[in-house]
Amino acid sequence: MLKIGLTGGIGSGKSEVSRRLAERGALVIDADKIAREVVEPGTSGLALIVEAFGEGVLREDGSLNREKLGQIVFADAEKLARLNAIVHPRVGERVAELQHSAPEGSIVVYDVPLLAENNLAPMYDVVIVVDASDEVRLARLAERRGMSEEDARARIKAQASREDRLKVADIVISNEGTLPDLDTRVAEVWTDLLERQATPQP
Ligand code: ADP
Repeated sequence: MLKIGLTGGIGSGKSEVSRRLAERGALVIDADKIAREVVEPGTSGLALIVEAFGEGVLREDGSLNREKLGQIVFADAEKLARLNAIVHPRVGERVAELQHSAPEGSIVVYDVPLLAENNLAPMYDVVIVVDASDEVRLARLAERRGMSEEDARARIKAQASREDRLKVADIVISNEGTLPDLDTRVAEVWTDLLERQATPQP
């Protein structure tokens, strides 16, 4: 199994890359998505959250009100730790399950937005960084996600700088061109990954 850490700043095109890698046959593990799944209505995760923080964190339809929960835990380290103690093991369990279900020789891509920020590069055989200039990212966030320039700048600033992210890259996918350009680059990278997978990792 080849473990790939995929990262990129907001608006870099990480999700576009991850989708293309999945289409080629990678097993993509998205921890943020799993973190939402383990607290869906009907899960033991959500039941424990309600037990810890009260019914006030639920929306009318019974789903978790993340904004409300966020307000509660981000102001209080102890509460945040309590929430993490509910969510993290469940995410870990689900990730392990997915890993075990992967056929031998799989290329497993971990979608890790904060890989550089949290110094997680050593956990992976190969780190792929999706890269685009701040200007390109700002334009995408404004055009495609309707974000204000101020909000987009604040989010970019809250993450690692482009330079710091590039420092931990084994493979860089520059994504400043068109989506067909990105298809071409991902095809090259996929070939590279297949070669690496066939070669024992040091
Ligand atoms: P991230 O996951 O890194 O935040 P996304 O993959 O969601 O970024 O890309 C942000 C937005 O920009 C999306 O709407 C995506 O479709 C668009 N996008 C990404 N790469 C390109 C590109 N090369 N050309 C045009 N649009 C792009």
